[in-house]
Amino acid sequence: MNCPPSRETPSDLHTKLAHLGRAPSEHKGMVNVPVYRGSTIVADSLEEWDSRKTADNPMASYGRFGSPLTRSLEHAICDLEGGYRSILFPSGLSACTHSLMGLLKAGDHLLISDSVYGPTRTFAERVLKRMQIDVEYFHPTRLDDLATRIRPTTRVVYVESPGSMTFEVQDVPAIAQLAHAVDAFVVMDNTWATPLFFRPFKHGADVSVQAATKYIVGHSDALLGIATANERAWPALQSSAHDFGETAGPDDIFLALRGLRTLAMRLQRHWDNGVQLAQSLQGHPSVLRVLHPALPDDAGHAIWKRDFRGASGLFGVVLRPMTREQLSVLFRRLKLFGIGLSWGGYESLALLADPRPARATGLPFEEGMLLRLHAGLESPEDLIADLHQALEAARFVGRAKAVSTATT
Ligand SMILES: *Cc1c(COP(=O)(O)O)cnc(C)c1O
Repeated sequence: MNCPPSRETPSDLHTKLAHLGRAPSEHKGMVNVPVYRGSTIVADSLEEWDSRKTADNPMASYGRFGSPLTRSLEHAICDLEGGYRSILFPSGLSACTHSLMGLLKAGDHLLISDSVYGPTRTFAERVLKRMQIDVEYFHPTRLDDLATRIRPTTRVVYVESPGSMTFEVQDVPAIAQLAHAVDAFVVMDNTWATPLFFRPFKHGADVSVQAATKYIVGHSDALLGIATANERAWPALQSSAHDFGETAGPDDIFLALRGLRTLAMRLQRHWDNGVQLAQSLQGHPSVLRVLHPALPDDAGHAIWKRDFRGASGLFGVVLRPMTREQLSVLFRRLKLFGIGLSWGGYESLALLADPRPARATGLPFEEGMLLRLHAGLESPEDLIADLHQALEAARFVGRAKAVSTATT
């Protein structure tokens, strides 16, 4: 695999993060690649203009195809993911949808992991079905289920490991083997692990998507998507981006490159904080189950340990059933966790979710409700104390109510 430029890249991950995608000598010594704003890019001669438009240099003829800043981030991510080429999109979802659009045509069969990111599912339901693509869902962890659904017309198998709401770890190498046996492409949403904790191409993916909005940007201040392909999938991915006119804003790209420099250190802390929070919730009277692949008794732990190099700060908690009033107290009492979508920033988040309506192959959470937590970079002791005092307050609402109804 080769991600241009072919200048030798360091092998140590931390060294890579400090050096990939920048070239001070090409930018008057500036440590960071400056923000290039531009639509039109002019040439001085017809010869120069022609050279700008050669197939291997599509970026230099028009701003929509990118700039030196665009290429810098693409090269850095491509190197980290271990693919052939990467391309930027204006959001993570756009990277997901255009990866699919590039590879699929009418009549193709698409298999999607049933625990997939909700908006990707909505796209398949609303858009791909309208384009006569045969959309079907498979059980995220049951290979036998996938094996019975896969067919000669299956063109793409779409995986997300772990599912970013319900945290099932998928056996990507085994899924890829089944997919490749019928010549299908494996598209993976690798946002949870980032390329630091999961190397998608080593495990059989053909396209890997990053919602860079999350950990790569890392500060909740920009939206960006990146898709990386191997050599086989690259032409379809690139033309999908270009044909739909997808492009990313220069300030967002700059922020993503800046985020990349501290990614390893931030992730280490998200991982530590997440595990500590998750452990503190195991056995808690309000908690039925903690969904975190790094916990030894998690259903996905063995595969996580085999294939992943770490865990991010996002995990789930199946709560015992609570009344609306209890839930309201729980969320009102949380001081350090904001109620919000997205994740991967430095701040902690809590979200109440019900994944059941969006499940085709089974209902794993009949017993309770799902609390999704993102462990930010705060002190773990403070996060644990905040969550536990809020859970206690919610429990007390229930007890006070039970007592008052019993005495009236
Ligand atoms: C957030 C997210 C996306 C979409 O990213 P946006 O930048 O918000 O469009 C895609 N996949 C997963 C797993 C996500 O969490």
